[in-house]
Amino acid sequence: MRPHLALIEDEPDFALMCRSYLEREGFTVTWAMDARAGKSVLYESRVDLAVLDLGLPDGSGLELLRALRSTSRLPVIVVTGRGAEADRVAGLEIGADDYLVKPFSQRELVARIRAVLRRSQPPEMPAVLQIGSLRIDTAARQASADGVLLTLRPKEYALLEMLGEAPGRVFSTEQVLERIWGASWQQPATVIEHVYRLRGKLAALPTPAPRITTVRGYGYRLDP
Ligand code: CA
Repeated sequence: MRPHLALIEDEPDFALMCRSYLEREGFTVTWAMDARAGKSVLYESRVDLAVLDLGLPDGSGLELLRALRSTSRLPVIVVTGRGAEADRVAGLEIGADDYLVKPFSQRELVARIRAVLRRSQPPEMPAVLQIGSLRIDTAARQASADGVLLTLRPKEYALLEMLGEAPGRVFSTEQVLERIWGASWQQPATVIEHVYRLRGKLAALPTPAPRITTVRGYGYRLDP
């Protein structure tokens, strides 16, 4: 799958040049030309990494990064102009994964993006999780109990897999939102609804399966 990049950059010539180069290198690129548009790209589409210019016309990229970091671990590479040392340091302190100083070559940009994406890969998961009678095949993205396949929507499957990675561990609603929806701008009601449906499907299985327990005021866990 092509990684999806958000390119938040106010200089059109430079942004268009970056975009066409990155697309040729196998990335999908959504370009946003100011902080406001950048914010909606980051919060409303599934992005794998952001390249964020810190000097934006409608506010500092640092503010955008700070807001993003309060809810998300999305990989971010900040871009600054020459001489903007303070911004660069602040960017790293707020949690940027790397930085580039203009001017930089397109090849350099691609190399940094690939390196950050590699570092941010989640650790390899076992292909099959077995929790009591429940079998979660993470490669096929399917779950079954004693051979009976569960019919799950993609987000329901993702929720089950997340809880199933650590049975007995409580995951907070925010953790679920961040991991499955990519950001916590979604309402907790979304999680409640998905838990409700998933619970119903687990309960409808012919063999007793693990169940999802609500930890009041905090989150959920899967009990074998
Ligand atoms: Ca700029």
